[in-house]
Amino acid sequence: MVVLRLALPTPMRRLFDYLPPAGVDCNALKPGVRLRVPFGNRQLVGLLIEVSDHSEFPEHKLKVALELLDHTPPLPQHLFDLARWAANYYQHPIGDALAQALPVMLRKGNACEYLHEHLWRACANVVPEDAGSRAKKQQALLALLIKHPHGISNDAIRAEGYKTEYLRPLEEKGLAERFTHHPHRANAERTENLLHEAPLTLNEQQQGALDEINDSIGFAPILLEGITGSGKTEIYLQAIERQLGMGNQALVLVPEIGLTPQTVTRFKQRFNVPVVALHSNMTDRQRLDAWLDAREGEARIIIGTRSAIFTPMKAPGIIIVDEEHDPSFKQQDGYRYSARDLAVFRAQKEDVAVVLGSATPSLETLHNAQQGRYQWMRVTQRAGNAKAPTFELLDTRNIPVQAGLSTPLVQRIRQTLDQGTQVLVFINRRGFSPALSCHDCGWIADCNRCDAHMTLHRSPPHLHCHHCDKQTPIPARCGHCGSDQLKPVGAGTERTEDTLQKLFPDVPVLRIDRDTTQRKDAMAQMMQQIHTGEPCILVGTQMLAKGHHFPKVTLVAILNADSGLFSADFRGMERTAQLILQVAGRAGRADHPGTVIMQTHHADHPTLQHLVQVGYYAFAQQELIQRQQAQLPPFTHYALVRAEANGNGRAEAFLRAIREQLESDILLPAGVRWLGPFPSPMEKRAGMHRAQLLIQGDNRRHLHQLLESLTYYLELSKEARQVRWSIDVDPVDTF
Ligand code: ADP
Ligand code: ZN
Ligand code: ZN
Repeated sequence: MVVLRLALPTPMRRLFDYLPPAGVDCNALKPGVRLRVPFGNRQLVGLLIEVSDHSEFPEHKLKVALELLDHTPPLPQHLFDLARWAANYYQHPIGDALAQALPVMLRKGNACEYLHEHLWRACANVVPEDAGSRAKKQQALLALLIKHPHGISNDAIRAEGYKTEYLRPLEEKGLAERFTHHPHRANAERTENLLHEAPLTLNEQQQGALDEINDSIGFAPILLEGITGSGKTEIYLQAIERQLGMGNQALVLVPEIGLTPQTVTRFKQRFNVPVVALHSNMTDRQRLDAWLDAREGEARIIIGTRSAIFTPMKAPGIIIVDEEHDPSFKQQDGYRYSARDLAVFRAQKEDVAVVLGSATPSLETLHNAQQGRYQWMRVTQRAGNAKAPTFELLDTRNIPVQAGLSTPLVQRIRQTLDQGTQVLVFINRRGFSPALSCHDCGWIADCNRCDAHMTLHRSPPHLHCHHCDKQTPIPARCGHCGSDQLKPVGAGTERTEDTLQKLFPDVPVLRIDRDTTQRKDAMAQMMQQIHTGEPCILVGTQMLAKGHHFPKVTLVAILNADSGLFSADFRGMERTAQLILQVAGRAGRADHPGTVIMQTHHADHPTLQHLVQVGYYAFAQQELIQRQQAQLPPFTHYALVRAEANGNGRAEAFLRAIREQLESDILLPAGVRWLGPFPSPMEKRAGMHRAQLLIQGDNRRHLHQLLESLTYYLELSKEARQVRWSIDVDPVDTF
């Protein structure tokens, strides 16, 4: 008996047994190949995990798989192992986890091959007359083929008004030939010259870091801590150059909003090799072809966001995670993996170096470096002639503030523009104002599906809940007292833009947030305007914080930086510090020195003071000491169970019941503690009531022991049909 154990894309954490499709040679059944199988009244595409000689079900109950889809497994062994390991580590259903490691077209069962078409072309050095003087139509067709040296399809030949029946005779005479063309496939031509442009001469610190990377042998995790503008990207480029020279490929992971055309251009400008960027504007077809290019070794550099961590490489040489601290490397719903952490694991499997680069490393990574698990390179000066910006804390207690802008700040903006340079104003809230309130009774327009205020937008005018996406018209009257005196409270990007435009009518004000950049090309157009170097004001959210190089920006104003200082999340402070320094890093990146002005109500806050006076490193050291004292990550490990249900209190009761059941049935592994369940901080969201149960472990192994039992209980629970639950291992948002 031959039984196939398959991982199928279902929410169930188990494998499914099938019999092999009729007529299939059992030697072709290698782990990792895809099969199409019947499942209920549907068909699913699954991956073969193992072949067995028995099943816990009787043979007549097993269904027969319909079709074997691959001769060889689409994922190379290392990646197949990585994907399976990750499914287990993140306690995610294996079928779904494996599916997410594949391009969409492969999940759907399409052939694992390039898009191809059959084209015709003329053979070398033929002329139309070769067809013979009595074959005028063949001559004409041959002339057409000669006009298309890269080939022409049957359809295109007919569209030009020619008959395809004359192709055969031309082929038989040795004048024309048919060939297969892959329109998206990268050009595999190998040239001696890897570079389009000469690399920059590195300064001493950069060179030291590069040497360290280049001297590493096999698996080597390296933290590259370099302040903004210190030339980290230049170090990546030169480390990649060395790998390319040895015939290897490079995988570069960037944050979601870091994958800009600017970033990709920088790689393409430097290297004379195929570079593929995996971005969200690609069709499924283009993605599969790019994925194949990476797997076949045609693409030499692969740049992508989080999901690119599962891109196979034929000859892996180095993995780079740029801005490794960025939360977008952790998927926040469904399959909650961390691409940054998987990058380290993958590098270990593939025995290559992995560089985690950041100006503001996460405390997890810093801790690993301090423990000696990672090599640690620091670049503390800006590259070229640029100097680090100077910080000023602007105390806004008791001074007039209009749309988030204080009078002294407006003066400094004016001075900067008068000097002919540019200003960046950062405000971490989009829309016109974060709330609409009644002047007479204090009522605030709330979302009826969430515990949250509606954000007021002016262009176009509407109220918008940023948590559940609900949109409503702006009410004319107060929902409580009927007054028509409704006023916006506080400022978002739209309002700040508005006010700045009124204050500086002669200067362009460019707003850059999710609302203004949705149209294709909108961002590119604004970038063009910025790069003219003419005085202008940029107003934006954290979209402006990452990766951008604005040589003419000399003043960066941070309007509401202190909102994160008192966050309930233990990572609030770390996040705030990272954001402040990333935004500040946009100032003075070229020849002009930069200034950062932070408006705050807490100018004497010791952590804030420490951060701006001594820098991120000192801040992080203090923060790590506090985390250790409080027994928080990275000194302990967390997993979070979230639950949501329709009625009030139901999700919390569900989690409590699970906890109590586990407590009575099993012994809690040593060093593992329950925290909760508690209602979530935003208890109601999108109409659902939410609760969470936090589990803390002194070591990962014991924590995972408990998680195994926990998921088992959660899956079996009858209540689970009315409660939606999810598990988040190493959560980045614990509140
Ligand atoms: P980071 O990635 O650390 O923020 P970048 O790599 O973007 O920094 O470098 C900032 C600027 O400095 C870029 O314009 C880059 O071309 C320039 N630069 C980097 N290294 C050097 C160098 N060794 N000499 C001169 N300019 C450099
Ligand atoms: Zn009212
Ligand atoms: Zn809502």
